[in-house]
Amino acid sequence: MKVYNTLSRQKEEFVPLEDGKVKMYVCGPTVYNLIHIGNARPMIVFDTVRRYMEYKGYEVNFVSNFTDVDDKIIKKAVEEGVSAQEISQRYIKECKKDMAAMNVKPATTHPLATEEIDGMLQMISTLIEKGYAYPAGDGTVYFRTRKFKEYGKLSHKNLDDLQAGHREIKVTGEEKEDSLDFVLWKPKKEGEPYWESSWCQGRPGWHIECSVMSKKYLGEEIDIHAGGEDLIFPHHENEIAQSEACNGKVFAKYWLHNGFLNIDNKKMSKSLGNFFTVREISEKYDLQVLRFFMLSAHYRSPLNFSEELMEAAKNGLDRIRNGAENLKHLSKNAHIEEMTEEEKEIWEKSREFVTKFETAMDDDFNTADGISSVFELVKYANTKANGDSSREFLEGLYQRLVQLCDILGIIVEAKEEILDEEIEKLIEERQAARKEKNFARADEIRGMLLEQGIILEDTREGVKWKRA
Ligand code: AMP
Ligand code: ZN
Repeated sequence: MKVYNTLSRQKEEFVPLEDGKVKMYVCGPTVYNLIHIGNARPMIVFDTVRRYMEYKGYEVNFVSNFTDVDDKIIKKAVEEGVSAQEISQRYIKECKKDMAAMNVKPATTHPLATEEIDGMLQMISTLIEKGYAYPAGDGTVYFRTRKFKEYGKLSHKNLDDLQAGHREIKVTGEEKEDSLDFVLWKPKKEGEPYWESSWCQGRPGWHIECSVMSKKYLGEEIDIHAGGEDLIFPHHENEIAQSEACNGKVFAKYWLHNGFLNIDNKKMSKSLGNFFTVREISEKYDLQVLRFFMLSAHYRSPLNFSEELMEAAKNGLDRIRNGAENLKHLSKNAHIEEMTEEEKEIWEKSREFVTKFETAMDDDFNTADGISSVFELVKYANTKANGDSSREFLEGLYQRLVQLCDILGIIVEAKEEILDEEIEKLIEERQAARKEKNFARADEIRGMLLEQGIILEDTREGVKWKRA
């Protein structure tokens, strides 16, 4: 299996640190709003990487954090007049709902930055002891960037170029020794959440969070560290500097980065306001369509979001699902149990599509080509399966298709549809919960229905619902 490593800018053979095991860390979202479909791209892509590794027999320890202390969270809390914790808890819950609806598996561990402060204080202290960090007069602790000789190895940036850029925007009054130095710990401002430390009452910088959470849950050396390409610099570059300076070991062997999800060829982002939330998309499409759309491009390529491409993804997914349904239907009505000799040959031949799928995925997770093999398998099955086929043959083809789709996180098995009466009953229960001001239960019911593809709309005439 070959993976593209941002560190070497090459595809490299994947060799895990420990036989049969993969330790993988994916930088998670900052939780102050519903996630947008740009944020969903690394979730879907690296969940697929994980699923493929598991298919290959690796035991994957998959850690992905939530950044739950940050300027944007605090700003939102101030706007709403609630605590920062209330904001982060709310959006972690919503994010987990979206992930489930996109069939992204929960991580082995989802650490929260605010629960790992002790580890951060420890790592910062070690960095100070080793001379890699220093506290300034106001209690801010900085990392001494130039002391880490390999700084820039991930982003392939040159320190002097960086410094030249910095000089132009240098803020006067800073107590940094060098403009390249970055923050590990910063003093609180009035009304902000803070923790005690020997330098000042304050909070951690963003980069130190991931270094610490990765170390705690996966150890000092890991196989894969991943995220969107905007994280290469400075976030991942700084993580490397902190972790390697502290632990004296190579932090991560392979660095994987997904390309941007764009809209009109511009990066989708909250700050530009050009985004769709996953929740908005779920009102129009089954989120399996979104997943299929994301995987129809190579994860490192930019991907432009458009209605046409979503429609194309929907049609493609329907083709696969129809193929699966057809096999299932034929199998239910089959009157011969075991495979005939002729079927055995066809069955053996269908293995070719699995091999092709694996070859594509072994080449830096080329899901686009992987999907083409799935289409070929569907086409092959459609031409070979009929009312006279044996159950064993039909079931075999069906399982082969389900297995490949499962690696992509695509569900082809037809879900039992929720009945109208059941929906009405749940809506009544939700109304009752709201009357009793039990909003948690009301939200939970809304979420349950959403997972089944049922969208509720509160109108003046009462609650209306529709199937997505
Ligand atoms: P953030 O909450 O901004 O830290 O982002 C969480 C994750 O989403 C990071 O891995 C980002 O790199 C990724 N991300 C944000 N916007 C996009 C985008 N438009 N396309 C792809 N990945 C993105
Ligand atoms: Zn991170």
